[in-house]
Amino acid sequence: VLVLGIESSCDETAAAIVDGERRIVAQRIASQDAEHAPFGGVVPEIAARAHAERLAPMVEAVLADADVALNDLDAIAATAGPGLIGGVMVGLVSAKALAMASDVPLVAVNHLEGHALSPRLADESLAFPYALLLVSGGHCQILRVDDVGQYRRLATTIDDALGEAFDKTAKILGLGFPGGPAVERKAKEGDAQAVPLPRPMVGSGEPHFSFAGLKSAVLRAHESGKYEVADIAASFQQAAIDCVIDRLRIALDEMRDCKTLVVAGGVAANASVRAALEELAAKHDMQFIAPPPKLCTDNAAMIAWAGIERLGMKDFSPDPLDISARPRWPLDPDAEPVRGAGV
Ligand code: ATP
Ligand code: MG
Ligand code: FE
Repeated sequence: VLVLGIESSCDETAAAIVDGERRIVAQRIASQDAEHAPFGGVVPEIAARAHAERLAPMVEAVLADADVALNDLDAIAATAGPGLIGGVMVGLVSAKALAMASDVPLVAVNHLEGHALSPRLADESLAFPYALLLVSGGHCQILRVDDVGQYRRLATTIDDALGEAFDKTAKILGLGFPGGPAVERKAKEGDAQAVPLPRPMVGSGEPHFSFAGLKSAVLRAHESGKYEVADIAASFQQAAIDCVIDRLRIALDEMRDCKTLVVAGGVAANASVRAALEELAAKHDMQFIAPPPKLCTDNAAMIAWAGIERLGMKDFSPDPLDISARPRWPLDPDAEPVRGAGV
C-alpha cells in the first residue's frame, strides 16, 4: 500500500508518501513561520496564498523523492478540515485534481483523525482501544479511541486550547512566534515555583479544561514587574501540566479498560508535558506512547497514514470528488455541548 498525504489546514504546507509497513517513503514540509511572525499569529489569507504557491511543486518533489508515479498510488489523502478554510480548500482541491487525473481514489481526512492516529504510525504495537490526550493549537480534548473513525470525547476545553495558551503566553512574554517551542525553551532557564499561578478546573468532577484564566494570570504577573520572564514561563508551563494531569486522572477513571495512554498534537512535542504524562501512565499501570516530536506538530505523514487506516476498513469507499472542505469537523459528532466550549 502506498498513499500520498497532503496537509494545508494551518500554516504548514506538507506532502508525504507513506507505505503499509509504516515507512515514510518521502516527505517535505514548508513552514510559514517567517510570513506570519510579523503579525504575531497565523493570517488566514497569507496562509492560503502560500499553500497555493507551494503545494504543487512540493507534491511533484515528494513523488520524485520516492521515485513513484501518481498511478502507483493506492490513494490520495488530503486534509478536508477542520482548519482555516482557504488553506484546506487549496489542499483538498489539489488532491481532487490529482485523483481525477490519475484515477486514484480520494480520501478526505479529518485533520484531528490524522493527529489521533499518528501514534499508530509511530508505534505498530499500539492497539485499540486507547486513551488519547489531543493537545494542539485549536483543540484540547481527552478521547477514547475505539477504532478508526470511532472516537468518544470525554473532555474538551471551555475556552482556550492548550497550544493557544502557550502561544498567548509567548506573546505576553515577548518570546515571539510560534509560541510553544519558545515558552518551552525559556522555561528551562526559570523556576517553576517562582510565580503563583492558578490551576483552573483542578478538582472539578468533570474532566474539562480551561486555560483563559491562567493566561490572564500570566499577563498580570508580567505586568506587575515582580518576576523574571523565565520564571513566568516555567511557572506557566508547570501550571498547565498540573491541569492536564488532574483532568486526565478524572477521565482515565472512565477508561479503565484502556491499557495505553497516548498523546498527540503539537503540544505533545513538549518534553516536560511528555515526562509528566509518562509518570501518570506509570501510576495507572498504563503503557505510554507519544509520537516523535516531528509527528506531533502538523505534517502530511499523519494524513497519509490516516488514509492508509481508512483504506483498511471493511466498509471503505473513496470519497466523492464533490466532497466539501469543512472549517469545523468534530471527531465525536455525538459529544454533548459543554458550556462555553466552541469545539
Ligand atoms: P489543530 O490541530 O487543533 O487544528 P494546529 O494544527 O494549528 O491546530 P498543531 O500544529 O497540531 O496545531 O500544533 C501547534 C500548536 O502546538 C501551537 O499552539 C504550538 O504553540 C504548540 N506547540 C508546538 N510545539 C510545542 C512545544 N514544544 N511546547 C508547547 N507547545 C508546542
Ligand atoms: Mg504551524
Ligand atoms: Fe494540527
